[in-house]
Amino acid sequence: MTEPIKIGIIICDRYRSCAGGKCLRSLRNREGAFSVYKNQDVEIAGYASCGGCPGGNVEYAPMEMKKNGVSVIHLATGMIVGYPPCPRIRYFTEFIREKYGMDVVVGTHPIPENYLTTHTALKTWDSKLWQELIAPTLSDEETRKAYD
Ligand code: SF4
Repeated sequence: MTEPIKIGIIICDRYRSCAGGKCLRSLRNREGAFSVYKNQDVEIAGYASCGGCPGGNVEYAPMEMKKNGVSVIHLATGMIVGYPPCPRIRYFTEFIREKYGMDVVVGTHPIPENYLTTHTALKTWDSKLWQELIAPTLSDEETRKAYD
């Protein structure tokens, strides 16, 4: 039997009391950013908040997760959809890759439809960079509505 791939999830601290329901459901269903694991066993081997702006825990949490076998860090969808989205998400991605040599995926569960509606009206994601950042969790409309 092949070993499961170990992932760690880092969430935006404004959602620190989140019970993780959408992330766990989407992992189980292999939806959103977890669709890349369709044919793989996955184990969540780390879960932490960023520590609050400016995200000081991102400096250390990946190291602890790596010691626990984590090879891929997911920056939770809340960092993308929050009002406002995290302005440091690209930096976190590059830092974790550079410092720890770990893969980083932006997003966890699919973007809920109501967030897409509001951010579209606000033109939040009207740039090439943001289009790249939301791509793994954009999903289809039916799936997004299931996460409202
Ligand atoms: S906006 Fe970014 S740095 Fe601030 S709490 Fe959320 S994830 Fe952390």
